[in-house]
Amino acid sequence: MQTLFTDGIVFTGHELRAADVLVVDDRIVAIGPGLSRGDVERIVDCEQRVLAPSFIDLHAHLRHPGMGEADDPASIAAAGLAGGFGVIVAMANTVPAIDSLPRWEKALASYVGLPVEVVQAAAVTMGREGQELVDFAALAQAGAVVFSDDGSGIQRSDVMRDALEASASWDVVIAQHSEDALLASGGSVNDGPFAQELGLSAIPEVAESVMVARDIELLKVIPGRLHLQHVTSRESLNLFRQAKREGLRISAEVTPHHLLLSDRYVASGDPNFKVNPPLRSVATQMALAQGLLDGTFDVLATDHAPHPPSRKDLPFADAAFGMLGLAEAMAAAWTALGRGFGDEQVRVEFGHEPSGPSWKALGRLLGSLTSGPGQILGRSIGLDAGKPADLVVIDPNRGPREVPSRWYRSPNSPYRQETLMGRVDALWLAGRQMVADGEVIVGV
Ligand SMILES: [Zn+2]
Repeated sequence: MQTLFTDGIVFTGHELRAADVLVVDDRIVAIGPGLSRGDVERIVDCEQRVLAPSFIDLHAHLRHPGMGEADDPASIAAAGLAGGFGVIVAMANTVPAIDSLPRWEKALASYVGLPVEVVQAAAVTMGREGQELVDFAALAQAGAVVFSDDGSGIQRSDVMRDALEASASWDVVIAQHSEDALLASGGSVNDGPFAQELGLSAIPEVAESVMVARDIELLKVIPGRLHLQHVTSRESLNLFRQAKREGLRISAEVTPHHLLLSDRYVASGDPNFKVNPPLRSVATQMALAQGLLDGTFDVLATDHAPHPPSRKDLPFADAAFGMLGLAEAMAAAWTALGRGFGDEQVRVEFGHEPSGPSWKALGRLLGSLTSGPGQILGRSIGLDAGKPADLVVIDPNRGPREVPSRWYRSPNSPYRQETLMGRVDALWLAGRQMVADGEVIVGV
C-alpha cells in the first residue's frame, strides 16, 4: 500500500520544511517537495497542517498492576493515541512497585497487543523505599532503559551515588523526581499567597532545587546519566542549564500543566489542581516556558496520573496528587506557549517557508515530544526514508475536537475550563491509521 502525505509542513525531528512524505506499507520511503503521485493508492492532504513523528511520553502512570480503580492500560493507550503518542513510558510506582526482573517482565507482557508501545520503567530501589538498589544488571540486560522511583525522590546521597554508578555501568538513565522529603513534608501547594489563603502547608521550589543541586554535584564525579523529571523551579532550571553547558550527561522534562497553569488555579480549592510538584507562580511558569522555547528542556512529558473520585473528592490537603493530560498534552503546551506570546491563540502562517517566532516555538515543542525523548530512550526518531511510518498530523490553528473527559475513566482533568489550541488530526503507527479526523479509529 502506497500512501502519499502531500502539501504539509514536515517536522523531520530536527527542522520544519515544506515536503511530501511517501509511505509504502509500514515504512517511509521518500521525503521531499513535489513527490510523484505515480503509483500512489492513497493521498492524505496535509495542507495547512504539520506532519511529525508520532509522540513519545517519557512519563506516565498506567496504574497497572494493582491500581485498576483509577484506569487501565488499554483505556490509557486510547487516550495516548488521541494525543498523538506512539510510545508511552510507564512509571514503576505501582502496587507492587516494578522493582524486580519478574515484575518488570510480567508488566511488559501485559501490554502486548496494545496499539501503543509501552516502555516499562523499573524502580531504582526495592519497593521504591530509597534504601537498596534493584538488580540493575538483570533489568538492563533484559532491556530496561529507564529507572525511576518517581512519586518520591531518592533521599540518601549514597544511594543516589550508587544508582548513578549503576546507570554508567549499564548505560541506562536514572529519572529522578527531585524532591527533598523533609523540605516538602506535609505540603500540598506552592509556597505563596494561595497557600496562606487556603491555610495549606507548602512545597517550596527549594525542596526541588536542593536535590537537583546535589544530584548534579554527584554527576560531576560519576559518569552516570541523569534525567530530571517535571522541573518546576527557576533555580533547578538554572542549575540544569549550567550542567548541560558543562557537558554533563543530563536531560530534563517539563510538563504541559506546569506550562499552562499556575498556583492561581488552586485558589478555587479544587483538588483537580493538586499535583506534585505543585503548580507554581506565574513567574516560574514563564521561566519554564522560556526553557522550552530556548531548547533547554529536552522533553515535554505528561506525568499523566489518573485518580478515582475516592482519592480526589476530598478536602485539598487530603486529596491525592496528580492530574490527567495524555490526550491534550500537545494542545496544552502549545496553548501555554501562545499565551507567552501575549496572544490567547498562537497561530502559525502557512503558505510560505516555516520561519519566525511561532514556527520556531512549534518546532521546539515538536522536538520535545519526539527526538528529545527518543534520544533518552536511545532511539533515533525522525521522518526519514527507511524509518517506520509512525506519523502524526496536527493542526496547530484549531482546538482539540474532543472534550477531555471523553478519553478518561478517572475525572481528574485540570483542563475542563480551558480553551485549548492545537489538534491531533490523524495518527499512523507502523503505517496503520489509528486516529482519523481527531477520532481514535482502532478498538483497544
Ligand atoms: Zn514525580
